[in-house]
Amino acid sequence: MAEIRILPPDVAERIAAGEVIDSPAAVVKELVENALDAGASEIRVEIQGGGLHLIRVADDGHGIPAEQIELALQRHATSKLRDVADLERITTFGFRGEALASIAAVAEVSIISAVEGQPGARCVYRVGKPVEKIAAARTRGTTVSVTDLFAALPARLKFLRSHKAEVAAISATMRRFTLASPDTRFALTINGRLHFRHEGGGLVEALSAAYGPGAAEALMPLEPVEVEGARISGVISGRAATRSSRAAIAIFVNRRPVVSRPLLDALEEGYRHFLPGGRHPLAALFIDLPPEDVDVNVHPAKLDVRLRYERAICTALTSAVRTAFGRHPAPASPLQRLTLDGTQPRLRGLAPRVAEERSGWRVDTATWESSTPLHASDTLPALRLLGQVNGALIVAESADALLLIDQHRAHERVIYEQLTATRAPQALIEPALVDLSVVEQARLAERLAALEELGLICEEFGARRILVRAVPVAPSTPLPADAIAEILRIAATEQDNWRERLLATIACRAAIRKGRALTPAEARDLVEKLSRTRSPASCPHGSPIVLQIGHALLARQFDW
Ligand code: ADP
Ligand code: MG
Repeated sequence: MAEIRILPPDVAERIAAGEVIDSPAAVVKELVENALDAGASEIRVEIQGGGLHLIRVADDGHGIPAEQIELALQRHATSKLRDVADLERITTFGFRGEALASIAAVAEVSIISAVEGQPGARCVYRVGKPVEKIAAARTRGTTVSVTDLFAALPARLKFLRSHKAEVAAISATMRRFTLASPDTRFALTINGRLHFRHEGGGLVEALSAAYGPGAAEALMPLEPVEVEGARISGVISGRAATRSSRAAIAIFVNRRPVVSRPLLDALEEGYRHFLPGGRHPLAALFIDLPPEDVDVNVHPAKLDVRLRYERAICTALTSAVRTAFGRHPAPASPLQRLTLDGTQPRLRGLAPRVAEERSGWRVDTATWESSTPLHASDTLPALRLLGQVNGALIVAESADALLLIDQHRAHERVIYEQLTATRAPQALIEPALVDLSVVEQARLAERLAALEELGLICEEFGARRILVRAVPVAPSTPLPADAIAEILRIAATEQDNWRERLLATIACRAAIRKGRALTPAEARDLVEKLSRTRSPASCPHGSPIVLQIGHALLARQFDW
């Protein structure tokens, strides 16, 4: 049997380092955090060889006194925390005094630093060698150079991603810092070429730097909300700009970038009916709260945090997103719709106006709101119905706009919301038989009770057949066989969100179609019902229902 021994210090050190420093991006993160903690107004990062050859972070922060640089490299050496009580209210990124020591355990580290008005010094650390220390001239600030990262750890090197992937991770890290500290100047140079720069010009500039030029245009502000002493603010995308992953969602708790499942879920819950399945929003969210209400000491890299009032904050976040959608229903969609058809030349004036409105929030949210003649989240404005065009659109006017309402989508929304509230099975006059694959049949067989709860009553009818007796809606015209088959196939899919997709499809297939003439009474009934829905702006698939042409736009178009 092997003997139990205390590990030699260098082995213990490397094991501990592995927790904090698992990639070049982790080094960049720790060094940039130190620079921000030092109050830097400019941070320059230089990378070579995917970060394995060199990572250099230079800042103009308060610096480290020459005689303390050696100490900074010791484990548990920190200037940010004095006693246990301080742990309860952490306002800096760092506090464990571990980062520099961990980096020094897996790379060569050189630190040059100077405090205002004092001579500077340079310390070089190599594992197993005495620290080299010499006087060095520099202005106030600190430069940390990390070379040959993981060179002594072939195992770690083996598991690293490609240089390209590491650079992408570093770049993403930097962009997040830019969003969190938009007034700080950042530059990232990769293999001698400037890769990314932010001039410290505030959040809008940081958004463009982080998500590409134009992204800021597609974002709308969240009305700041306060809950249990926490303030939630930030910007989120409308439905025009979406991504296929959650990578463009940045969440900051007291300016610290965090990855929090509950907060991400709460954000996306707010989008539920506004984005098509599989798409994710862009967002920069800031949650600022008293330091004693957040525990940042739960994750080695401090990526996850625990919030004292997490549930309340999540609920408030979800409703803040819904409110933002209500207040600015799809600012980009009317423009998109109009440019799709042949009317573009005459309506060209719409583009600058919309752009103007959308950029208004940069200066002042109130201006943006008052210049946006779009309807509110829960009600349509009072309307006078004028008629129907194209067999598809209800034409109406409000006090300050002309409105076109897509009859099919409006009806879809109405039915969808009815379905999510109550689901009374409506017996089909003639039960429908649907042929399915063996797999589909097997999955459906397990879900018969769940389907019945949704108002869809089915029974097995042989090995690969299902008999549908009732659906949860009285359709405007009897559902054709292919609609019932489509509904059942969705009920038999694997995806977690099959229930929502099922209800959305039922709503779509049961809604009145394009081409159906409406009597004035039918149109009025539909618009009235639409105005009572939770989100009259978009159908369950996220497409816009209402297009508004404001009087201001008309005046401009006709030179009134
Ligand atoms: P922590 O940030 O948790 O305190 P680190 O190992 O990252 O631990 O840093 C140790 C100490 O070194 C810090 O507390 C700080 O006093 C000093 N330090 C590190 N980097 C800088 C920097 N860029 N500017 C000024 N001081 C720094
Ligand atoms: Mg630190």
